[in-house]
Amino acid sequence: MTEQPTVAAPYDILFEPVQIGPFTTKNRFYQVPHCNGMGYRDPSAQAAMRKIKAEGGWSVVCTEQVEIHATSDIAPFIELRIWDDQDLPALKRIADAIHEGGGLAGIELAHNGMNAPNQLSRETPLGPGHLPVAPDTIAPIQARAMTTQDIADLRRWHRNAVRRSIEAGYDIVYVYGAHGYSGVHHFLSRRYNQRTDEYGGSLLNRMRLLRELLEDTIEECDGKAAVACRITVEEELEGGITREDIEGVLRELGELPDLWDFAMGSWEGDSVTSRFGLEGSQEEFVAGLKKLTTKPVVGVGRFTSPDAMVRQIKAGILDLIGAARPSIADPFLPNKIRDGRLSLIRECIGCNICVSGDLTMSPIRCTQNPSMGEEWRRGWHPEKIRAKESDAQVLVVGAGPSGLEAARALGVRGYDVALIEARRDLGGRVHQESRLPGLSAWGRVQEYREAAIAELPNVEVFRESPMTADDIIEFGFQHVLVATGATWRTDGVARFHTTPLPIAKGAQVLGPDDLFAGRLPEGKKVVVYDDDHYYLGGVVSELLAQKGYDVSIVTTESQVSAWTTNTFEVNRIQRRLIENGVTRITDHAVTAVGVGGVELKDVYAGAVRELECDAVVMVTARLPREELYLELDALRERGELESVRGIGDSWAPGTIAAAVWSGRRAAEEFDADLPSNDEVPFRREVTQLA
Ligand code: ADP
Ligand code: SF4
Repeated sequence: MTEQPTVAAPYDILFEPVQIGPFTTKNRFYQVPHCNGMGYRDPSAQAAMRKIKAEGGWSVVCTEQVEIHATSDIAPFIELRIWDDQDLPALKRIADAIHEGGGLAGIELAHNGMNAPNQLSRETPLGPGHLPVAPDTIAPIQARAMTTQDIADLRRWHRNAVRRSIEAGYDIVYVYGAHGYSGVHHFLSRRYNQRTDEYGGSLLNRMRLLRELLEDTIEECDGKAAVACRITVEEELEGGITREDIEGVLRELGELPDLWDFAMGSWEGDSVTSRFGLEGSQEEFVAGLKKLTTKPVVGVGRFTSPDAMVRQIKAGILDLIGAARPSIADPFLPNKIRDGRLSLIRECIGCNICVSGDLTMSPIRCTQNPSMGEEWRRGWHPEKIRAKESDAQVLVVGAGPSGLEAARALGVRGYDVALIEARRDLGGRVHQESRLPGLSAWGRVQEYREAAIAELPNVEVFRESPMTADDIIEFGFQHVLVATGATWRTDGVARFHTTPLPIAKGAQVLGPDDLFAGRLPEGKKVVVYDDDHYYLGGVVSELLAQKGYDVSIVTTESQVSAWTTNTFEVNRIQRRLIENGVTRITDHAVTAVGVGGVELKDVYAGAVRELECDAVVMVTARLPREELYLELDALRERGELESVRGIGDSWAPGTIAAAVWSGRRAAEEFDADLPSNDEVPFRREVTQLA
């Protein structure tokens, strides 16, 4: 009998084991440390979130950065702490949960150095030199140049933290030297380290602290845990850490840790949104480093495509596929690849709403994965949802992100669902916005849900079917979810003006809905008035500039798209607008629109001036399309319908993430015995009094 040659399935290579110190992974999927806005405030919630990732196939699941000492305090942020034994129960809960899920648990120990303003502890910040603390919005204070005694103290604190990490059950212990959030990074970088002692000057001296911390950690772990080092490969700042530096570090220290985790010089540089960076955009900085060490290397790149992952391994760039955001959007990504369920991968769209959770100290949220952050609080799971409790049939009106998610989740529960959409295309705002410059990846919100719904025979989709209340009653539906979305206002009402501003007869005023429908301004000079402050004002300006208009964007904030500081986009947006020739007029409101121009008012001094233009595009507030809901609710009160619920933007306009979440919530709560709204609608972890 001739033996059949075995042909490796295309993604088998992703399921090979990798040796990390004393441990062997079950595959190459590695959830790198990532912040989550839950930190020390919500440890059980974080434990449940990490456990689900381990269940979903991530062979290693790490914590976020964990402050090792009270001099490393990044308040007001709430990242985990391992200051002393009091912190161990929370850390142990997280490690145990990861183990229960079937993963190896990693802990990222961090001394934040001059990035720690110590607002809570009021200790003096510590750095290589006398320089201002890095987060300038938190405290106008300076770090003190560390003495050799301070360095000895730091080494002891780090050792204590390593010992405690092992006690808490972690398998992989990090020495953190990346993202500008770590003293190790500051010592490595000439930008901050101008010392003249044995810790400054030559690269060997600048890496001395890293070497010492690695040696201490290896000794303290003593084979009980693996040692990982997360390091900046490129600082992307004048005078910062360079490729040459990092190659030198690897030549000297390459064999010390059991794993290298490559990162960029800032979190902003690592977590680039899809508007500004493609999948795998770190490759140019990471490629070639692996050959400088025999130890496994992990790196990130917003990897969601298994082909791109395979390429990273086969090209010898990475040994482990690192992910933060792709593991947030789809905790079951590894298992879905393993099982060949590729069309059901909830691909990260690269919007950084997850980042905004951490930066606003709110539990992590995700546009694609509404269960993210709700695993413990509300018992939601990214793949599972409890079975239906009745034979009710549900009508969902509107197939934007909220309607799509509600229909999908109700369908998974087993209900018969009719999803009815007025337009030919599904997706609502996501379908429209994904056609704007830089936002194509947003279409994944719709694509995933359409693919999931296509597998559900109990969900029927009807297109080009605008529904009225009479239609709904006529068709006999008893349960209706109204997901009809919102309309952009064109009267100037938003944050600055809460009543309509004067608009002259004959003035040309458009809103985003006009642009979505293909209606463009007449003339050459356009003013975009942005009092929304998220992405759309900037995107619309970019679109119009690309179409040849002479564009000025007027915003009441000091930067265009000011809120995108929370998605790490604000700086790139200014640069892109400048590159597109858009004039930015900040700190001004449009106070009147005439024919041929607008009146602008300085928001501080009140000075008024005129600006010539042919047309104005208002990116201001939205009004919910709530008429259908109001009519149906009146019918429900008269007993003609059993239940009606408004969801998404038709209930209250917000982010796409909020709309998806609201669709999921409606599906979770359908047929549920809900407590009164006098009660807190989710579980909380309340601090025990000392
Ligand atoms: P959300 O973000 O809340 O999901 P969207 O604005 O993205 O809201 O989507 C709302 C969708 O509802 C749009 O695709 C719109 O065409 C559709 N829609 C609005 N009114 C009706 C209606 N009366 N009947 C059917 N579909 C509707
Ligand atoms: Fe990706 Fe956006 Fe989800 Fe973050 S919030 S994981 S960027 S889809």
